Amino acid sequence: MEQSKIWLSSPHMGGGEMKYIQEAFDENWIAPLGPNVNGLEQDLEHFLDEKGIYVAALSSGTAAVHLSLILLDVKPGDFVICQSLTFSASANPIVYMGATPIFVDSEKDTWNLCPNAVEDAIKFGISKGKKPKAIIAVALYGMPYKADEIKAISEKYDIPVIEDSAEALGSSYKNQKCGTFGDLAVLSFNGNKIITTSGGGALILKDKAFKKKAVFLSTQAKDDAPHYEHTNIGYNYRMSNICAGIGRGQMEVLHQRVEQRRANHRFYAELFKDFQGFALHAEPNSDYYSNHWLSVVCVDSACGITPEAVRLAAQKENIETRPIWKPMHLQPVFKNSLYFGSDLAEKCFETGLCLPSGSNLTENDFARISHLFAEIFSLS
Ligand SMILES: *Cc1c(COP(=O)(O)O)cnc(C)c1O
Repeated sequence: MEQSKIWLSSPHMGGGEMKYIQEAFDENWIAPLGPNVNGLEQDLEHFLDEKGIYVAALSSGTAAVHLSLILLDVKPGDFVICQSLTFSASANPIVYMGATPIFVDSEKDTWNLCPNAVEDAIKFGISKGKKPKAIIAVALYGMPYKADEIKAISEKYDIPVIEDSAEALGSSYKNQKCGTFGDLAVLSFNGNKIITTSGGGALILKDKAFKKKAVFLSTQAKDDAPHYEHTNIGYNYRMSNICAGIGRGQMEVLHQRVEQRRANHRFYAELFKDFQGFALHAEPNSDYYSNHWLSVVCVDSACGITPEAVRLAAQKENIETRPIWKPMHLQPVFKNSLYFGSDLAEKCFETGLCLPSGSNLTENDFARISHLFAEIFSLS
């Protein structure tokens, strides 16, 4: 009999979700507004624990990236800097705006934006008479980016940062939570993320008027009039009250979910500690606290085994693994795009493999994973 599939990261309900959904049904709040939407925003504001933080719950993380570019008044032809090593949703909204992405390499400690390459990209834009309009900084796999360095560059050139923490809810840097670093920040509650609303996201803003504008634009930009009056182009980007109910239930267990994912990472650290060809991507020092949304191992082919061989061996055992995000500047859809940096993102892509990292892995799943790697190590 085939064993059940071990997923990379699957939804993990906490038990409280149905209570909020039932309330929504009882009160007929079956709409992209309602008490759960407001409640989820408050839960997130409370969790992020910073003064002057406003959350707008949206239909997806991608919508949050898009709206942040709209709020920053990005225009067709503008340059926007974006981390190359990321999921395409960080970058696609730049193209929705008719703007031009400038992709930037990662640095080795966190795999996020390389500050030197960011500065080169800014200087390039300025030399073309177009200072970049925004810097999209990603906290990849939950690892915070070098927030101090990126902020210093942002201030030096007066360019706002959009913090893409879609993967990093529950992470922190120097005891400050991810989601509070950028001028604007993005969260995702897609089905594979650390908590989910089935599909959803949030935009985090530092200004109440900005939040009002984000909500206005995300609900079709309806002006104050008895009929439908529009002086702006609007979007249908608000989160539904049903999805927000799932989110409220998930917020009750967020701390546990972070603990569970971090325990997965410790399990892998133990598994790989005696195998030199297998290096687990980990926090560079104690300033960084990752939620370890996904645990990622780099496989050095010099040890006699390739990441692809690991992936195929796992697949045979019905265990899902996946190469890390393919850098945007190597994607066919972004060919010929601007790129600054060296080949670090590319090297990470060639060696990195995402491992099963769900907060719902069972003892039996861990045993199967241990067994798989024992077999793989015996071959190397
Ligand atoms: C998931 C993700 C997004 C997009 O979020 P959706 O809610 O799926 O639209 C954006 N950026 C990164 C880095 C992501 O991982």
